[in-house]
Amino acid sequence: MEEIKNKTEQSQNQQGGGRKRRRRHRGGHGGNNQNAQNNQNVQNGQKPQKGQAPQNQNQGKQGGQNNAVKGNAQPQKGQQNSQAAQKQPQQQAQQGGKKNKNKQPQQSQNQQVQQKQNQQSQQKQKQVKQEENRKDTYLYTLDGNLYVNLTNKCSNGCDFCVRNERTSYYGNYLWLRNGDPTVEKVIAAANGFGDLTRFKEVVFCGFGEPTYKVAEMTALCDFFHEKGLKTRLNTNGQGNLINKRDITPELKGKIDFVNVSLNASCVEKYQPICRSQFGEAGFSGLVEFAKLCKRNGIDCRFSIVDCIGETEVEACKRLAQSVNIPLYVRSYITDS
Ligand code: SF4
Repeated sequence: MEEIKNKTEQSQNQQGGGRKRRRRHRGGHGGNNQNAQNNQNVQNGQKPQKGQAPQNQNQGKQGGQNNAVKGNAQPQKGQQNSQAAQKQPQQQAQQGGKKNKNKQPQQSQNQQVQQKQNQQSQQKQKQVKQEENRKDTYLYTLDGNLYVNLTNKCSNGCDFCVRNERTSYYGNYLWLRNGDPTVEKVIAAANGFGDLTRFKEVVFCGFGEPTYKVAEMTALCDFFHEKGLKTRLNTNGQGNLINKRDITPELKGKIDFVNVSLNASCVEKYQPICRSQFGEAGFSGLVEFAKLCKRNGIDCRFSIVDCIGETEVEACKRLAQSVNIPLYVRSYITDS
């Protein structure tokens, strides 16, 4: 999943022009609701909150002017004070006098607010329904590659895993609500993509560790090879521990390239952030897995992200060199 996040970040960089943080969108309901409340407060004779336009008062004054034009605001006998003459129509407006024509715009405003709230409520209901009816995503595309999401199981619980914070991944629902897909289901989904040769490669990488599904993965490699595509496995390197056997001979001739997420230079640094269910064996297991891939003639590399710090990056380089596996250092950019 680290690979996915990085790809997204690359995509975001391309779109956003560099290391910009993506801002979360804030809902725009507050303003409308506050205006609605403010109008209601004025109707109820309450004092509007600071900074909020006392719309009824304005309307009341306008109402007074209108009434004055009609002659309704003539001073009564003995009332020479023009202020008193103006006050009367204003009070009438506030009390909702029958002849106040300016009440209509305010009602119209309230209706608009209500209408908007109804629309928002309907939209939310629609989204909930879409979520209920959504299909699991077995295949998705990113940066010209076709990604295969075979399972949600994982032997790690990494702090940085994108699945910790996302239900959908750019519109792709990688959480599999209907269980892991069969080979047939993935092939059916792949056929829905039309000409597959437009993809650079097929990558086994989703919301889980693909080596839990080694049989399905190797069968799918045959399908994709027949279509002329290269195959890559992005893994936490614990496939032999997961399957309780050396699976690397099974990958030979099926997976063209293996990317093992190293994440740290030693078990003491790896386990606190990746929390392998195999404990300390998780880290030594992934190093051994990479060595076995290489021994079986499978092109393999380690990968890390540079946010682990310069010292740790150097330590990872030394480890990779010691087992003669190339190391790929990716830059990390937050997307929060
Ligand atoms: S190893 Fe598992 S928990 Fe860690 S990033 Fe990959 S999918 Fe997520």
